[in-house]
Amino acid sequence: MDKYEVLLEKAMQLHGEFCPGIVIGTKMCMAAMEKLGMNPLEQNENLIVYVEIDRCISDAIIAITGCSLGNRRLKYNDYGKFVVNFTDIKNRKTIRVSTRDDKVSSFTGFWTLLENILTSDKYTDPTTQREELETVAEIISQMSEEELLSLENVHLEIPENDIPGLPDHIAVCSICGEHVMDGKEFVLNGNIICRSCANENVKLVVNRFYGDFSSFDMES
Ligand SMILES: [Zn+2]
Ligand SMILES: [Zn+2]
Repeated sequence: MDKYEVLLEKAMQLHGEFCPGIVIGTKMCMAAMEKLGMNPLEQNENLIVYVEIDRCISDAIIAITGCSLGNRRLKYNDYGKFVVNFTDIKNRKTIRVSTRDDKVSSFTGFWTLLENILTSDKYTDPTTQREELETVAEIISQMSEEELLSLENVHLEIPENDIPGLPDHIAVCSICGEHVMDGKEFVLNGNIICRSCANENVKLVVNRFYGDFSSFDMES
């Protein structure tokens, strides 16, 4: 087995199926880790990944890199994109890998192949759709890194609180009373508020501290 096959197998074991996302995630790890001077066959403690979707590719990223929520080296941005940022925390170098848009050329790439399946009446049956997705996975398996992926060197501002290690401080939310680690709280008018309280009821939070929803200002 070559390196790609070994890594793909690892990704499939965690994910449970052979599909386009697993192929893309595997190729993303190979391309980005090699650019960062890391060996994708070995886990690297200096690697942090920011995944931008909760779909198949993320399982390949987790299986291959060993980055997890538990070791704080997996970060999740809920953007709905087949994009992963790979950061070496030692030198803060970041490679952003996205799935190439083939619509700008005559080349039939991943997005066109996927759209064909999702929009075709032929594939309304889930079994047929799954078989078609496997066919797409086979096709993109054969594609080169250049045909499938776009790689960019980017500067990613990494909050110190994102770095693995023991928490600096623990805050207590003034609304729900729950403990918040890693600086994830907001301070509003001198009061500590957790993100769930802030997100779930903006009006309640603002009215409690300001009495007027139209004039609020987040300090951090
Ligand atoms: Zn899948
Ligand atoms: Zn709270």
